Amino acid sequence: MWYELAADALDREACARLDDADPLAAQRAAFALPTGVVYLNGNSLGPLPQAAVARLEHAIQHEWGRGLVRSWNEAGWFDAPRRVGGKMAHLIGADADEVVIADSTSVNLFKLLVAALRLRPGRHVVVVDPHDFPTDVYVAQGLERLIRGCEVRSLDGGDEDVVQALDERVAVVALSHVDYKTARRRDLAAVTKQAHAAGALMLWDLSHSVGAMPIDVRAADVDLAVGCSYKYLSGGPGSPAFLYVARRLHEQFASPLPGWMGHAAPFEFAAEYVPAAGVSRALCGTPPILSLAALEAALDHWHGTDLHQVRAKSEALCELFIRLVEERCPSGELQVASPRLSGERGSHVALRHPHGYAVMQALIARGVIGDFRAPDLMRFGFAPLYNRFTDAWDAAIALAEILVARSWDKAEYARRRTVT
Ligand SMILES: *Cc1c(COP(=O)(O)O)cnc(C)c1O
Repeated sequence: MWYELAADALDREACARLDDADPLAAQRAAFALPTGVVYLNGNSLGPLPQAAVARLEHAIQHEWGRGLVRSWNEAGWFDAPRRVGGKMAHLIGADADEVVIADSTSVNLFKLLVAALRLRPGRHVVVVDPHDFPTDVYVAQGLERLIRGCEVRSLDGGDEDVVQALDERVAVVALSHVDYKTARRRDLAAVTKQAHAAGALMLWDLSHSVGAMPIDVRAADVDLAVGCSYKYLSGGPGSPAFLYVARRLHEQFASPLPGWMGHAAPFEFAAEYVPAAGVSRALCGTPPILSLAALEAALDHWHGTDLHQVRAKSEALCELFIRLVEERCPSGELQVASPRLSGERGSHVALRHPHGYAVMQALIARGVIGDFRAPDLMRFGFAPLYNRFTDAWDAAIALAEILVARSWDKAEYARRRTVT
């Protein structure tokens, strides 16, 4: 065991001792975290990796500034979507040539859902969870309007419902591995197996799990996957997303956005579209080189990181935070919306409070940064590479003080900003 929480009441010194003994503690220095801030929102926007600063500087001054258009060949720009995809593949248990970096998670969902429908001719149903991240649901619903006969089928809840929603009309099941609101974690292998038993393909959105836990798409026999790179991976605001297509589907896979970057020979400028070999055909237009440069620097940092250790620390941090909230915060006001069992949880903790938005604003004013998801959820993300056990302590104590003093009850904290 790497992380052992004592059973008796903890104090800040005990948390500091956990930090001292933490084998991942040294990783924190790789991130540019402002002093005085307890950053618990890496599940929304990961902090700046120190290495990205120099990498971006080089990409701007040297590659763009001096190399100009020559850098497409000389600085490896053209291959960046494949190269950087290859560097993140190990984080999801895929081979390097099964992953590319492209577009946003929303756009990749569109491409893979349409491709999945084509891979299952005669089947027209897309199964989604209506409580999933809205973009996932919206994109599926958009297909109903775009493709004649396509139908979206919504689950009611739990994993059991996946089985009940399956029949011979289902082409693809598209679900999030970890729920963005509650952090509930689905069983990747078990649900994939259920989809396959019904003859459907399985598409996972790994946005809220990649970089927070080991994922093995090969062992789970996953067909298709997408996910964000700006959350636990710290690729930077709006950094391009990843997409995975299992090797066995590469030959038949067809992108509904057959752009020139997915062509077998883009610089032949041929009249006819011929798809590139393998997952490269999922590329569409010109890649965002500066964002890819930052993401590549962020991913280089993950090299050699033991994801089982990352997961163990994530469980311990979340466990500690939930315990402290229950011990220290006034009872009755807050409700833990995340699963209590570590095995059923991702890497953030969601707390329900009727004035959750204002409470979170009061926390942010004190330097404890989490976020809020309507109507009443406060989210606290624990990223094992840089969060400390003392962060969990400081956040829980700040929350308790704010609730006891009702210092959240101010007009300025109730005013909703655009991004919550
Ligand atoms: C963050 C997140 C997204 C965001 O998609 P973008 O296209 O990058 O805006 C989509 N799905 C899930 C499950 C997410 O957590």
